[in-house]
Amino acid sequence: MRLVLLGPPGAGKGTQAVILSEKLGIPHISTGDLFRANIGEGTPLGVEAKQYIDAGKLVPTDVTARMVQARLAEPDAAEGFLLDGFPRTVEQADILAALLAESGHSLDGVINYVVSEDVVVERMLSRGRADDNEETIRTRLGVYRDETAPLISYYGDRIINIEAEGSVEDISARTLAALGR
Ligand code: AMP
Repeated sequence: MRLVLLGPPGAGKGTQAVILSEKLGIPHISTGDLFRANIGEGTPLGVEAKQYIDAGKLVPTDVTARMVQARLAEPDAAEGFLLDGFPRTVEQADILAALLAESGHSLDGVINYVVSEDVVVERMLSRGRADDNEETIRTRLGVYRDETAPLISYYGDRIINIEAEGSVEDISARTLAALGR
């Protein structure tokens, strides 16, 4: 299965992705995790990405898309993947569609985690990540509204809406049920 997880920052995509990845037997590919790994290793990609991430802004699309392309070309992603944090703009969604089309593939579904802004702010403040201070959170929510939310209409009937408030277990059970698993 080739799936994308959508939803505002703090919706719990990463937490759900870990569970779904195991249940569905497909790799969890998180652009945020890939960037953080690069930052940790001090790679040139990490050095470039850090300034954007620390400010809550999007890393430029050419940099991000190259990283995703390389990750999707790894053997474990040949039969499916769970993309978490990519695409985040319509431009990135077009790039993803073109990348998949090159190998004759397309997305099987787009899971959209629906959650109120109050809950996402609360979840972000409680996880204590370096880019989770109040100002950066505000910037990231603005980026989500302006750049990422339009993907909901972009994907149209491929969107699977999942109510993402409540316990982690309930949300993953809802997601699996919606996928027919
Ligand atoms: P996340 O872990 O998904 O919340 O991502 C953390 C940060 O990484 C974001 O706030 C962006 O700065 C950057 N990032 C992650 N995915 C993307 C993407 N698809 N395009 C641009 N920047 C991204």
